[in-house]
Order: sequence, then structure tokens, then C-alpha cells
Amino acid sequence: MEILKDFEFDFDAGLLMRKLKIAEGSEDETEFKELVNKALSIANPKAIYLEGFVESMADDSVVINGVKFTSLTLRKNLENTERVFAYIATCGAELNSVKFDQYEFLKEYWWDTIKGYFLEIARNKLMGYIKKRYMLNKTATMAPGGGEAGIWHIEQQKQLFALFGDVEKLIGVRLTETYLMIPNKSVSGILFPTERDYSGCKLCRRKNCPGRSAEFDEELWNSIGIEAALKLKEKRR
Ligand code: SF4
Repeated sequence: MEILKDFEFDFDAGLLMRKLKIAEGSEDETEFKELVNKALSIANPKAIYLEGFVESMADDSVVINGVKFTSLTLRKNLENTERVFAYIATCGAELNSVKFDQYEFLKEYWWDTIKGYFLEIARNKLMGYIKKRYMLNKTATMAPGGGEAGIWHIEQQKQLFALFGDVEKLIGVRLTETYLMIPNKSVSGILFPTERDYSGCKLCRRKNCPGRSAEFDEELWNSIGIEAALKLKEKRR
């Protein structure tokens, strides 16, 4: 297990201003830059990862480092893999501890966007670090609750966190009763080497999603047998 923090990075405030449609020279720019300076003075995005080894597989489950994960898609994705990397990355509890007055909606929205930027720093540094250190070529990731419902249930965050132990003590991230992560700008999942192009969006039928990064792939959906697995699960209830 390894914790990554104190990253070196360049902060592109202009990029965020364009994203948030904040005009240069405006009062909003002054206020936004005050927030950026505040964030830069306290931010410490972090990430943690560990090497996991696939110990056994059943129909729709896989055991990694003694922890059982239930997901047909995960099992299929790991079919030819022995080693995976479980990870959690976060903008950091420092940024999350900043509170705004109830009427400061806009500032709160900007702050959340800034937190998202720091999360991306942590995530990108982590992915780059793992790929370099373990000399990985093509990789993909899966996360509990990611993509369409039923692909990998969000409740399995509990198992993912169990691989690490006390994640809050380690990097300041905790799970709520509904398995959401605090800080909200945190991500978790399993990174695995793969030969094929995999992305959760390829197995998601949601229409008009602004975050979509790949088209729904019916062939992939059928090859994994998700429809049949979902029907079987429904029948067992
Ligand atoms: S299409 Fe949207 S909801 Fe579906 S997996 Fe991609 S980003 Fe998530």
C-alpha cells in the first residue's frame, strides 16, 4: 500500500474561468481568484493504492486479496488478469473543510469546481505513477456504482475500502451510509491491465448524459451477458 501526496502541479485558473464562464476583468474574476488563492494555500490532494491479486473467481464474483467482489462485468474484465490495483484519490479533506454561508451559492459552486480540479490532479498523478512504476501499457478502470445500475453495485464500496483498512485515517476519505464518499470530490476503483478498450460508458444505456465518454457498445454488452445476468438476479429476488 502506498500513499501519494504533496504533488507538484501547475494550476490553470484560466481554464476553470472559461469552464465557469467567468469574464476576464470582471468582479467575478477577482472573487474567483481569491478562492483560487485560498485553495492553493490549503490544498493537499492525495491518493492511495495497493497491489491486489486475483485469488479466485466464480460465476459473477472475484476474490482479490481475500475480499469478495460481486460483479459479472468485473469478473469478465479480470478473466485474464492476475494483478490489479485498487485505488482511492481525493481533492483532500483540507478543501472539503471550507464552508460557505447559505446564500453563497455561486461561491460554493466555484469552490466545488476547484475541488474537482484538485481531484483530477490527484487522479492523474496516481494513474501516471502506477503505470510507470509497474510498466503497464493499456489499462482500464471500474468503480462500484460506476456506469449503469447493476454493473457493479455501489454497496461494494464497502469491500473496496475494506482492502485498505481505515481510509479516513490514511487519506481523509470516508463512506456515508449510502456509500458515497466524503470529500465528494473523491474517486475509487480498480485499475487493471487490458487488451480491449473498456469504459463504463460503453455499458451504460443512459440517454443524453453530459459526461459520456464513449458510445454504448451493444456487442460488448452482449459478450458479457449482462442482460441474462440481470434477469437471473431479478428472478432470484
Ligand atoms: S454515460 Fe454517463 S452515467 Fe453512464 S457511465 Fe458514462 S458518464 Fe456515467
